[in-house]
Amino acid sequence: MLVPVFTLKLSHKILPRMVALGRYDGTHPCLAAATQAGKVFIHNPHARGQRTSTNRMVQSNQDSDISLLNINQAISCLASGVLNPQLGYDCLLVGTQTNLLAYDVYNNSDLFYREVTGDNVRSLALCDFDGDGKTELLVGSDDFDIRVFKQDEIVAEMSETETVTALNPMCGSRFGYALSNGTVGVYEKTNRYWRIKSKNQAISIHAFDLNSDGVSELITGWSNGKVDARNDRTGEVIFKDNFASSIAGVVEGDYRMDGSNQLICCSVDGEIRGYLPGGEEMKGNLMDTSAEQDMIRELSQKKQNLLLELRNYEESAKAELNTKKIDGQRGMIPANTQLQTALLVNLGSDNRSAHVELCISTTNDTIIRAVLIFAEGIFEGESHVVHPSPQNLSGCIRVPLTPAKDVPVDLHIKAFVGYRNSTQFHVFELTRQLPRFSMYALSSPDSSAEPLSFVNFTMNERPQRIIMWLNQSFLLPEDVEFQSVPFQVCFTSLRNAGQLCIKIKPGGEISINTDDIDLAGDIIQSMTSFLAIEDLQVEADFPAYFEELRKVLVKVDEHHAVNQRLTADMAEHSRLIRSMLLQAEDARCQGDMKIMKTHYIELYDLNRDLINQYKIRCNNHTELLNNLKAVNQAIQRAGQLRVGRPKAQVISACRDAIRSNNFHTLFRIMRVGAAPS
Ligand code: CA
Ligand code: CA
Repeated sequence: MLVPVFTLKLSHKILPRMVALGRYDGTHPCLAAATQAGKVFIHNPHARGQRTSTNRMVQSNQDSDISLLNINQAISCLASGVLNPQLGYDCLLVGTQTNLLAYDVYNNSDLFYREVTGDNVRSLALCDFDGDGKTELLVGSDDFDIRVFKQDEIVAEMSETETVTALNPMCGSRFGYALSNGTVGVYEKTNRYWRIKSKNQAISIHAFDLNSDGVSELITGWSNGKVDARNDRTGEVIFKDNFASSIAGVVEGDYRMDGSNQLICCSVDGEIRGYLPGGEEMKGNLMDTSAEQDMIRELSQKKQNLLLELRNYEESAKAELNTKKIDGQRGMIPANTQLQTALLVNLGSDNRSAHVELCISTTNDTIIRAVLIFAEGIFEGESHVVHPSPQNLSGCIRVPLTPAKDVPVDLHIKAFVGYRNSTQFHVFELTRQLPRFSMYALSSPDSSAEPLSFVNFTMNERPQRIIMWLNQSFLLPEDVEFQSVPFQVCFTSLRNAGQLCIKIKPGGEISINTDDIDLAGDIIQSMTSFLAIEDLQVEADFPAYFEELRKVLVKVDEHHAVNQRLTADMAEHSRLIRSMLLQAEDARCQGDMKIMKTHYIELYDLNRDLINQYKIRCNNHTELLNNLKAVNQAIQRAGQLRVGRPKAQVISACRDAIRSNNFHTLFRIMRVGAAPS
C-alpha cells in the first residue's frame, strides 16, 4: 500500500483552496498557505535559522520554520511562479477581493501591489487544447461554461451544469475540471471522458502520476478529508487516503529535496502529507489489502444478487412450463411488453405551471411500479424517483421536467414493470434525449405579439435542412413539413411566455425574432453547428437590451468618476492626519495637554470620516464591478450571435470600443458586426 513519505502537523489553520508551493529562493521548495485573519504562512523546512522580521514578514513564535506574511485583508487567492525570469526564483502572488500583491519572499519586499477589477472567472488553466504545441487558456466561469481562448478568440465552449470551480491541465489536450456541486471529471478537447458526482465538495484537483505508468492521474482533495487518485481515461479510483478534516489544497514539489517530486496534500487543520509515486514492486497496485477486501466483498455481493436473479428466471420458466399460465406474482410479464416514452409540451393550467412532460407507458395491462430517471442538471441530486402509491398504480407515469437552461440532456430511464400483485418486476432501461429547445411551445403566428428584437442573416442552405434542425431541436406535436418560402414558425417560452419566431425568406434570408438575446445566440449556435457552418455574420437589434446596456455604461462612467474623487479625498485626508498627528505629538512634548487633546479629538473625527469614506468606496467598487461584468456579458452575447471569424471580430472590436470609450461605435458593432481589421 502507498503510504506518505512524510507527514507534518503545522500549528496553523489553512483556508480551503489557498495553498501554493514555490522555490522562493530559487532552490528550496516552500509551502505557502493563507490562514484566517489575513495572513499567509510560509513553511520552509530547509531554513537554517535565517530569522527575518522586517517589512511584512515576521517569524512565527511557535515554529522556527514558519514565517508569517501580513496582508491585513481577507485572502481570496494564492499562487506562486516565476514572474521575472531574471530573478531566477518564484514570487508569491496574493489576491484579495480588491488587490493583487506580487511578493518577493526572498528579499522580503513587495514587487508590486495593484488594485484589480474582478470578473466572474472562477478557474483558469493553461493547456495545449488543439495540440499545436502552444498552450491555450481555459477559463471556468460562474455561468457554468468552460471557455477555451486562443489569444483573444474563444475557440471552444463547453456547457456544464454548475459553477466551474477548478481546471487542471493533464496530458496533451486532456484536462480535469471540478464543479461547485461535487462533480469532477476529465475532458479530452470538447469530449468529456468521464465524470463522477459526490455529495462532498471537490476543493482541489491536481494532475500527478501516482502509479508511475507515465500518465498523470486526476487527484482530488475533498471537503470530507478524502483524497483520491483516478485514472484519467476511466475515472476508476486507483488510490485513496483520508484526512481528519477537509482538504485545503493538493500541490506537488520536491519537498524533501531528494530529486523526485512528491504529491503534497494539505488539510485545513494544517496536516501535510507527501506521497512518492508507487515504485515498480507495487505494480501500480496502490491500495491497501483492506481496500482489496472491500472490493471482493462488493463483488461477492453482486454475484449473490445475480445468482438470485438467475434463480428467479429459472423458477419462473419452470412455472410457465408446468402450468402454461403466466404467473404475475413471480414477475412474469408478456414477452411482447414494451415500454414507450413520449416527450411533449404541457401548457399547464397557467403560465407558471407550464412544463415539458415525459410520459412513460406500457403497451398492455401491465403496470409501472416505479421509475428512476438520471439526468444531469435537471433534478436536484441528478436523479428522480417516481413511486406511485398502490391505489394509484397504472400503466402510465407522467414526469414533469423544467430544464433551467437550453442544453440537450440525456434522460436515462429505468422502469419497473409488472402486475399489481407482483413481488418481482421486470426492469426496462432506455435513454431519451430531451431536445435543446424543449421549453418552447409551438404557437400560432401573431404579428401583433412579434418581438421587436431580431437577428437577420443569409445562409446558402436548403430550407429543408433548416427544417430538419427545427424538428430535431424543438418538441413539436408532429414534424414540421417544408412547403414553400416564405416559411414561418412561432414558439412561446414555457419559462416567461416570451415569443420566438423563425422565418425563412426568399434568397436564403433568415430572421429570428426574440427579445431574449441569449436565446437568439443559442439558436444561431445550434443551427450553424447542425448545418456545419463555420462563419456567419448577422445583423441584429435588441432595442430594450441595448437601452439597458446604455444605462450601465453611463453608470460605469459615474462610478469611475466617484472613485477618482474619493481617491483624491482620501489622499488629502491622509495628509491632514499626518500633520495633525505631528501637531498633537508636538503639543505633548511641550506638555500642552489641552492642545494635544484638541488635536486628538480632531484626529478621531477625521479617522471616522476616513472609515466612512472607505465604506462608500467599497460599495462604489462593488457596483462598478457588477456593471463591468454586465458590459462584458453584453460583449459575449453580441459575439454569440455570430459564428467563427465574425464572432471573434465582434468581440475584439467591442473591447476596443470600450477601451476608447466610444459607445456609438460599440452599439454599431453589436448591431451590424465588425469590419475585418
Ligand atoms: Ca495549442
Ligand atoms: Ca499514472
